[in-house]
Amino acid sequence: MKTIGIIGGMSWESTALYYRLINEGVRERLGGLHSASILLDSCDFAGMEKLQTAGDWESIGQILSDTASKLQDSGAEGILIATNTMHEVADVVERAIRVPFLHIADAVGEALTSDGLDTVGLLGTRFTMERPFYTGRLMERFGINTLIPESDGRDQVHKVIYQELCRGVIEDSSRSVYLQIMDKLVEDGAQAIVLGCTEIGLLVGEEDTDIPLYDTARFHAEAAVRWMLGNGSAMAKGGGRPLDTGTR
Ligand code: GLU
Repeated sequence: MKTIGIIGGMSWESTALYYRLINEGVRERLGGLHSASILLDSCDFAGMEKLQTAGDWESIGQILSDTASKLQDSGAEGILIATNTMHEVADVVERAIRVPFLHIADAVGEALTSDGLDTVGLLGTRFTMERPFYTGRLMERFGINTLIPESDGRDQVHKVIYQELCRGVIEDSSRSVYLQIMDKLVEDGAQAIVLGCTEIGLLVGEEDTDIPLYDTARFHAEAAVRWMLGNGSAMAKGGGRPLDTGTR
């Protein structure tokens, strides 16, 4: 089994989920007392969020590159960033390391393609919904067209992530808001909704809606397990189903 280096803490609510999902995926495949070989560097999110709000992506890129290098030097054979938003600096981080980088949009993009989808709704932080690093990659690499909520909806989705989900707060009222926004995206032509923030799966799950959901944290964790166990490339062909821990 290869050792995965996880850059986490953004927020730790979803990093904890990655830790569980990757360990469960390894146990499921290898059985017995097997568990995942993981190096985790968990940052203090408060400072990172300030840099995001200030638009200082250069500093973020530097910090995450240093973290990735530190994990690599400590023995990580591959690196992942356990958040969608911070993939804004994925190219910078990837250039700073010699080992493979497992990109979260590729994990979900391969699953969408293998399920024959070409138009999806995307929920995430404003950064993920509005900046091209995510929707552009889905289009360029997978031919997937992305619909996002209108400005008010984007604001609501973004606020719930930072003011509630990243702080461990789960509100029924916010779930209802998300479900309404998802319904509208489907009315506008989305065939499925990508939960493009690693905490959204803590709020909304398959039990809440008939709309197909693609939880990026689960697909990313699944891609990591496949890569660690050597079943194909960093992003094995054919998508692969996400891991389900039944956390909600
Ligand atoms: N974990 C979230 C994401 O997947 C948001 C926190 C962050 O800004 O990194 O985008």
